[in-house]
Amino acid sequence: MTTYSHSRLSTFEKCPLSYKYKYLDKIKPEIPFTGIEAYMGSTVHESIEYLYRRQKKMPNDDIPLILILDKYETVWNENMSEAIQVVKEGMKKEDYFLQGKKILADYYKKHQPFDKEKTLSMEERIDVNIEGFKIMGFVDRLAVSNVTGNLEIHDYKTSGRLPQIGDLQNDRQLSLYQIGARKKYPEYNENNAEIVYHYLRFNEEFRFHKTEEELSAVKNEIVDLIQTIEFSSWENNFKPHVSKLCQWCEFSTLCPAFQNSVNHPV
Ligand code: SF4
Repeated sequence: MTTYSHSRLSTFEKCPLSYKYKYLDKIKPEIPFTGIEAYMGSTVHESIEYLYRRQKKMPNDDIPLILILDKYETVWNENMSEAIQVVKEGMKKEDYFLQGKKILADYYKKHQPFDKEKTLSMEERIDVNIEGFKIMGFVDRLAVSNVTGNLEIHDYKTSGRLPQIGDLQNDRQLSLYQIGARKKYPEYNENNAEIVYHYLRFNEEFRFHKTEEELSAVKNEIVDLIQTIEFSSWENNFKPHVSKLCQWCEFSTLCPAFQNSVNHPV
């Protein structure tokens, strides 16, 4: 049986054909491609993970900002390759490197000395079973509030756009993680678990409590989506969805719909 993940579900929603290329045909792009935005995001994530892992290990030690920034620079340089590409005109890799550095410095200043919660884990795998469908994901950070005792599900975003509050309220990913985390950590105020989105470029955070009704709606939505995916697989019918996102798609060179749109622009 297929195990789904949030990114697998989102890939189908954005473009069924790219879902087929990636998850069913398992095509590896001839020229590997990673957008620099995603690269900067993953390097920032790794640096934040380092920060909290270190704090968990040595809770009484101060963590100097320079240590986090050094980690960021090391990871950035070690993993940099030709596959990491800049798409936006007028931007250079260095610009994104500096953006990431600023993001980390701002986050550090806002949260230092990092004593509002106790971190339970970083990048922990969460498994959820909904009506026989298996879904898994990795939570950026699970923590318990030192003030309320609530379980907290933290997610770090490096998007350059602030979301609409309604989008966050309806967000599927963290609701899913909340369902899984509550089961895994029943000893904490699981009914009041809180979802915390960090929009790092804006140094802003958004907190939500999900009601049982909201969680139940998310479960229904996921079941509907998985059934649609499985029906498409059964019919072998995966329609392309040409959009602005195609320029970041790793399959754009082999996708007939995209190539057609380039050769015959509307
Ligand atoms: S290039 Fe666009 S239409 Fe083609 S697979 Fe990728 S996202 Fe879908």
